[in-house]
Amino acid sequence: MTLILENYVGGRWLPGTGKLADLHNPTTGAVVARAGTGGIDMKAALTFARDVGGAALRAMTFAQRGEMIMAASKALHAQRDALLDLEIVNGGNTRKDAKFDVDGAIGTLAAYAELGKRLGDTTVLLDGEGVQLGRTPRLWGQHVMLPRRGVAVHVNAFNFPAWGIAEKAACAWLAGLPVLAKPATATALVAERVVRVLADAKVLPAGALSLLCGSAGDLLDHLDAQDVLAFTGSADTGYLLRSKERLLRRSVRVNVEADSLNSTVLGPDVEPGSETWNLFLRDVITDMTQKAGQKCTAIRRILVPVARLADVEADLKDRLAAVKVGDPADEATNMGPLATRSQLDDAVAGVRKLMGEADVVFGSPDARPGAGWFFGPVLLRSRDPLAATAVHEHEVFGPVSTLLPYDGTAATAAHLVRKGEGSLVASVLSDDRDFVRDVVTEMGAWHGRLYLGSAAMAPLSPGPGTVLPLTTHGGPGRAGGGEELGGLRGLALYQQRTALEGDRAMIEKLFAAPAPK
Ligand code: NAP
Repeated sequence: MTLILENYVGGRWLPGTGKLADLHNPTTGAVVARAGTGGIDMKAALTFARDVGGAALRAMTFAQRGEMIMAASKALHAQRDALLDLEIVNGGNTRKDAKFDVDGAIGTLAAYAELGKRLGDTTVLLDGEGVQLGRTPRLWGQHVMLPRRGVAVHVNAFNFPAWGIAEKAACAWLAGLPVLAKPATATALVAERVVRVLADAKVLPAGALSLLCGSAGDLLDHLDAQDVLAFTGSADTGYLLRSKERLLRRSVRVNVEADSLNSTVLGPDVEPGSETWNLFLRDVITDMTQKAGQKCTAIRRILVPVARLADVEADLKDRLAAVKVGDPADEATNMGPLATRSQLDDAVAGVRKLMGEADVVFGSPDARPGAGWFFGPVLLRSRDPLAATAVHEHEVFGPVSTLLPYDGTAATAAHLVRKGEGSLVASVLSDDRDFVRDVVTEMGAWHGRLYLGSAAMAPLSPGPGTVLPLTTHGGPGRAGGGEELGGLRGLALYQQRTALEGDRAMIEKLFAAPAPK
């Protein structure tokens, strides 16, 4: 009998009624579970989270919330193997790819637990230093950050079912907000297990975490001014959600993490075979093949000085030829299938679109025949990067990237990168500090994060595709204009900044920050 995933609302597990969606194993196409939210009372789910979960979390100090988040991290760690197995079955992930998601979830929770511990036994965060407002310091101003009184509604993409829940929840919980998670239906098998593990471990107060497995239904029509919507997914869905009348009229805070045409820039100083060169190749191959290229941070545009193009192309082709695509359960496999049938169709169509202005130099634009949604890595070379449009505008969410030859100047590199109109991350691989400074200055404002790859940091590098909890994730423009994580910065989305104006002695007595631990 097929497994039916349940929703976790009002502190109870409830199956959806009516028509359920099928969840598949992308390796075989077989149905592995069904899920739906029919019959779920969305308004009641939000009210329970607000009233029960919110009150419990606000009654806790930052240190106590930190302990709670650490307990959540440990509970997931205890079920790590089971979660990895589900990632293979329902996401087409190799074990290594599955670890990227699951360990990312565990690690991000642990990082926020540590931040909570450091904030200590307080419930209010100060925002900056106090300021004198009157003729004497008696009239004093101090900005404070207070938890909003609503629910953090988290709508996530299919590609990170564990990390997606955890990275958003870590920030919301530490800020003092309950979470209602709505993972993508296609890979909700893992997301459901994450929530079930946390519910069974009883590490969270009632109402701190709710889950919808399936369509959001009329959920967003019940959001109010104190609620927060954090969305990750395609730009089209992001646009649809952020322009909902209810959200606009009630000024519901919305954060969007969307598409991104991330780039990497190889500096003209980098010699073939050098440490920085090898780091560059490794980053490109990792981003093309890890999770079959289904990472929002993956490198889609590879900028290479014309003088180095032939060498880079030859080295990348060699490395791509060694990538074994196949059953992700097989340990010899480096890359599994795409996660869904529609991802496969989109990847095929996307490569064909890019071929209007670029040549395929490795791989095939066609899906692999037979069962499963397999699509091998495809490397293209742009015929005229400055005149091209599709490569700067169309995100092919799969193992696909395009070489863009440039003249080796920082100005041209930055100009090309900016054609992406805002990305999550770009990397600059160079040991020439002047070049790095010029590129960073020229393209920084179009990015949420810049990764500076060099020989000195190469041994420690996680690669640009890895989102770390202590630096921000998000980007302007096409990337959605959102911002998540970044250590304590990530709490701001869930807090209200309130300026207190009054007697200095009273403000400092009531809200003085305790000495950090
Ligand atoms: P998607 O189709 O936009 O779906 C994202 C989420 O939105 C899913 O949970 C989906 O639910 C939900 N959704 C869709 N329509 C909705 C509606 N009318 N009301 C409420 N919720 C709705 O995106 P995806 O295919 O899962 O993910 C791929 C995209 O996400 C790529 O473009 C990628 O770049 C982007 N992404 C961005 C980031 C980032 O951090 N910037 C990270 C990962 C992925 P259902 O599944 O139930 O339809």
